[in-house]
Amino acid sequence: MITLHEVYEQGTETVKEAVRSFGTRHPLGPATADAEPDWKLAERHFTSVIEVIMGTAALAQPDAAGTVRRAENAARQLLLTLNTLPNYRCPICVKQGRGPL
Ligand SMILES: [Zn+2]
Repeated sequence: MITLHEVYEQGTETVKEAVRSFGTRHPLGPATADAEPDWKLAERHFTSVIEVIMGTAALAQPDAAGTVRRAENAARQLLLTLNTLPNYRCPICVKQGRGPL
């Protein structure tokens, strides 16, 4: 499955910006304006987003590779869409009840 880092590496400037923005939603320590992103957590949440989109049942499908690819594309698209919103929250953080960021 594609990682957030790979999305960044392969992405256009717009995609890179969306990845950085997703990272800042996962601050290490207190959520201050200049907090360093917790990339491990951001990676985990990006993977969770893909898994949610894909649905666990999809893994048993014969076209699993295609399903994964479609979910990865959808997750990338979701990052881009989220980044057009001011002060959005990571949907996985929201689900887990993490902080105001
Ligand atoms: Zn998150």
